[in-house]
This record gives sequence, C-alpha cells and structure tokens, in this order.
Amino acid sequence: MQKTAPPATYRVKSFGCQMNVYDGERMAELLSAQGMSAAPDGADADLVVLNTCHIREKAAEKVYSDIGRLRREDGSSPLIAVAGCVAQAEGEEIMARAPSVRVVVGPQAYHRLPEMIERARAGERATDTDMPANTKFDVLPPRRRAAASAFLTIQEGCNKFCTYCVVPYTRGAEISRPFNDLIDEARKLVENGAREITLLGQNVNAWRGEDAGGTVISFDDLIRSLDKIPELQRIRYTTSHPMDVTDGLIAAHGEVTKLMPYLHLPVQSGSDRMLKAMNRSHSVDSYLRLLERFRAARPDIALSGDFIVGFPGETEQDFEDTLRLVDAVGYAQAYSFKFSPRPGTPAADMDGAVTAAVMDERLQRLQAAINRDQLAFNKASEGRRCAVLVERNGRKPGQWLGKSPWLQSVHFEGESEIGAMVDVELVEAGPNSISAKRI
Ligand code: SF4
Repeated sequence: MQKTAPPATYRVKSFGCQMNVYDGERMAELLSAQGMSAAPDGADADLVVLNTCHIREKAAEKVYSDIGRLRREDGSSPLIAVAGCVAQAEGEEIMARAPSVRVVVGPQAYHRLPEMIERARAGERATDTDMPANTKFDVLPPRRRAAASAFLTIQEGCNKFCTYCVVPYTRGAEISRPFNDLIDEARKLVENGAREITLLGQNVNAWRGEDAGGTVISFDDLIRSLDKIPELQRIRYTTSHPMDVTDGLIAAHGEVTKLMPYLHLPVQSGSDRMLKAMNRSHSVDSYLRLLERFRAARPDIALSGDFIVGFPGETEQDFEDTLRLVDAVGYAQAYSFKFSPRPGTPAADMDGAVTAAVMDERLQRLQAAINRDQLAFNKASEGRRCAVLVERNGRKPGQWLGKSPWLQSVHFEGESEIGAMVDVELVEAGPNSISAKRI
C-alpha cells in the first residue's frame, strides 16, 4: 500500500492530571524533533494526539466525542493517535469503536510514537501498551522549552491499590527516575526559562534514588539537591500519599526556603470505615497528626486535599465525618468528586451503591464547606507581602497573573514580564484569586 504523506503539523491535547500535561509536553517535543511543527491555535493539524484520562467514566468517554469532532466536512480525518490512560486501559478496543483512530499508545510507550506514525502511514493500525521501566526517558529528546513554572515527572505508577483507582492498572508499578537524570532535566528546564519546578508523581513522595556509591537518596534529599540550582527559585511537588511522608520531608518544609509552603495531601474521606474500604492504609487521626507536624514545621503552610463522596456503603454518618475533617483542617483549597465505578477496580463490584441524588447533595455540601475555607484562607492573606511568579498576561492591558507561594492565583497591574518574580502586597481576596499591588 502506498504510504500517505508524512504529517507536517501536529496538535497534542492533554486531559486529566499534571502528569498527562507533562507527557503531552514530551510528546510535542518528540514530534518537533521529528521535524513536525505545532499547528497554530484553531488551525487544522495533520496529526492529532488525544492524551487521555481514565480516572472517571465521564473523562474516559470524552475521548470518543473528541474523536468524532475531528472529522472534517469532506469526511476525512487527521491522523489520530490516542495516548494516555484510556489507551492503556482499552488498547485496540478503541480502534474497534472508532475506526478513524490509527495509533493507540500507552503512557509508558509514547517514545515509540514516531515509528508508530510510520506504520500508520503504511496503512497499519499501530498499538503499543507496553510498560518498559524507565525506557521512555532514556530516548526522549532533551527539554528545549520551559514555561516559567515547569513540570518534572520524577516518579510514575502506584503500588497502593486504593480500591476505587485505575492508576495501578494504567500506569503500572511505582518506578523512580534516576537522581542524575532528574538533576540534568531540572537544569535544562532552568536554562530554558523555568523559575519554578513542580515535581510530579502519582506518589511523588515515594520517590527514592541512589547515588553512584549506592547510597539511598530520599525524596527530601532530592529537594535539597534541586535547592542548590542557583536560578531555580521555587520547588513544589504533587501528588503525595500520607503513607510515604517522612520526617525528612516535614523538616524540609521548615528548612528549604525554595520549597513552597503548600502541601497537597489527598485523604478522600473523614471516616475510618470508608478509608478501610478504600484501602487507604491510614486513619483519619494519623492523617491529622501528619498535618499538625507540617504546620509545626511551616506555620503558614497552605493545605490541600482530595475527597470522594458516595463511595459504596457511605452512610450519612460517614459523610458527616468527612465534613468534620474539613472543618478541623481548614483547607486552603481541595478537590472533591463523586464516586465513579471504574472497570476492573474492586470498588466497582462493591455493594451499598449510593444514589446519584444523594451523591449530588453530599458533593454540594462538601464543596460549600471547601469554598468557605478557601475564601477564609485567601481573606486571611490580605495585607501579606510576598513574591509572585508571573505566568501570563491578564485580561486587562497591563495586568499580570501569577501564583503566590501558597499557590493562590494573584493578579496585579504595572510593568512586568512572564517569568519575573515580583514583590507584591495582597490587597483584596476573592474565592479564586487575589488582587495585589506591586511594592
Ligand atoms: S494512591 Fe491510590 S488514588 Fe493515588 S494513584 Fe495510587 S491507587 Fe490511585
């Protein structure tokens, strides 16, 4: 069969978590290194990569409506590749359901995208959901571009097997990238303009490394090593698991000035009965004691969490325990979701399903409490002086947007540029952002 013309332009659309955003950036760099160029916004692309999320049913189903929307008026479609966690979970089934898809590639195999595109041009349907440990990072091109705030994946996969989660099945077992590779990539990101690096992992604080002598390097040692990169001004990390929090990490929040006073530590429920059914391996009490220790190390630390409402068997009492936990912590922000049964997970077959109406009602009550505390945290920040990392232009002329050390969205007016660290006084807080003035 005659090969079709090589794609000249591409578009990578990433959905879901920051790790998918990171993978999307690496796929874009890989395609650029092949001589392709990113299609201008709104313009048609020869190749479209849908980098998918499988965490909830709605997210997984979204890929099929996006595929349908890629069909052109003349009935043709761009070369379509499906990547990410839906690709890993569903593999060739995607092509059976959507024949216009020519390439299906999992999160651990996207370094093979160029050869898979060649096979698709020759008329083949190319699928690769292999899970080789670490390989992709060995062959991906070096980082060339970096935003003022850049992501750096240091760890992938998960061994925790929470009963509602697909990640251990779609991302595989926990692997830690080598220490030297991370320091090199961080330096490259800083050389290319990054002033803040967010370390990423499904269980980022489970990262462990080894130096040349075979000595184990802990996660907080890695943070302390990154702290030594002169032009790097801020370090963040997400997503952590309570079971992998160490004394060293807590101490680092009190000692490493570049480590930002922000901690995202999911808990999912305030009921020990639910935490057990979720296989979270920790109790509400141990979680609260951890947060107390982080607050002791860094009193102004902003705390963030994740919650699921409507887990099978959740009673009104369990849910009220969750509200009590939220009241006790006073989160600066938190994410909350309705339980979504995921194929292949133990929770999908559990009894005691909570009705959609009850889930909706509980989610509203939980979000009202979370929004109340987020506004309170922002209001308490009024009058504070801090540095803001400028990330982009605001809607108004001369307006700039960036993040405070506590990951609050801040806007101010005046002279500035993207990547600048600007000293401001936080003036007026709203639920989702704070206006500030330069000082
Ligand atoms: S810790 Fe639990 S929720 Fe988080 S990725 Fe692992 S299995 Fe999923």
